[in-house]
Amino acid sequence: MKPVLELQNIDFSYNTLTGETKALKNVSFDVYAHEFLGIIGPSGCGKSTILSLISGLLTPTGGIIINHLQSDSESPAFGYMLQKDHLFEWRSIYKNVILGPEIHHCLTPEKTGFVQHLLEEYGLAPFKDARPSQLSGGMRQRAALIRTLALSPQMLLLDEPFSALDSQTRLSVSEDIYQILRKEGKSAILVTHDISEAISFCDRIVVLSKRPGSVKKILDISLSVAEKTPLKARNAPEFRHYFNELWGELHVGTN
Ligand code: ADP
Ligand code: MG
Repeated sequence: MKPVLELQNIDFSYNTLTGETKALKNVSFDVYAHEFLGIIGPSGCGKSTILSLISGLLTPTGGIIINHLQSDSESPAFGYMLQKDHLFEWRSIYKNVILGPEIHHCLTPEKTGFVQHLLEEYGLAPFKDARPSQLSGGMRQRAALIRTLALSPQMLLLDEPFSALDSQTRLSVSEDIYQILRKEGKSAILVTHDISEAISFCDRIVVLSKRPGSVKKILDISLSVAEKTPLKARNAPEFRHYFNELWGELHVGTN
């Protein structure tokens, strides 16, 4: 199978007034269509930097990123989802989720129909006219995802999207987001420092060393559950084995 995205020998340094910070060293991995790829590593190892490089906000100091995703002005290659939902309180939920198409001047009848479909499909239609503060944390993240999906990106870049939620909500929201992204047929890169979250959400996991981040290991996740979802994955007999392996990679040895 041909990858949709290839990172080849990526180096990246930040230049600041006080000098150069080497953030990434020789990072290579591929992402395939419909795949959920996890990136885990210690705080400050360069995870968010990788997403910024992929989306083109930053340019690699060395190496190349080959993007095979077909994108145009109406449907970008990448959509971002962050820890904070960044919903605007002065706009209704509907006005929030159509923000992307509105800014990109592509608010066609097809687009509004698509947004309406997403709101209905994912249980937010009754809250169209509500303000963000009237929704629970989980519903707000769902609204943030629908806002991202409204532009029909092909790959979602998820930067610790569940970190701000309490642990109970976090589980149900990750289940929610997982099902939506699978149903919409998207590829995703999930950045997290939570080992269990990575195993339960992802098909493959890239483990980074501490800064400057380099790839320590790429692990295939294969669980014997009939239909994998984040909640079901946690009951798979292999779950603990993967947890221990990743814990070892992150905490033992030379990092
Ligand atoms: P992570 O997401 O894994 O926590 P980041 O990608 O945010 O790590 O950052 C990687 C390293 O680069 C960190 O050591 C951080 O301090 C540094 N860094 C991040 N952004 C900047 C910046 N704008 N200027 C200088 N250094 C930065
Ligand atoms: Mg980060």
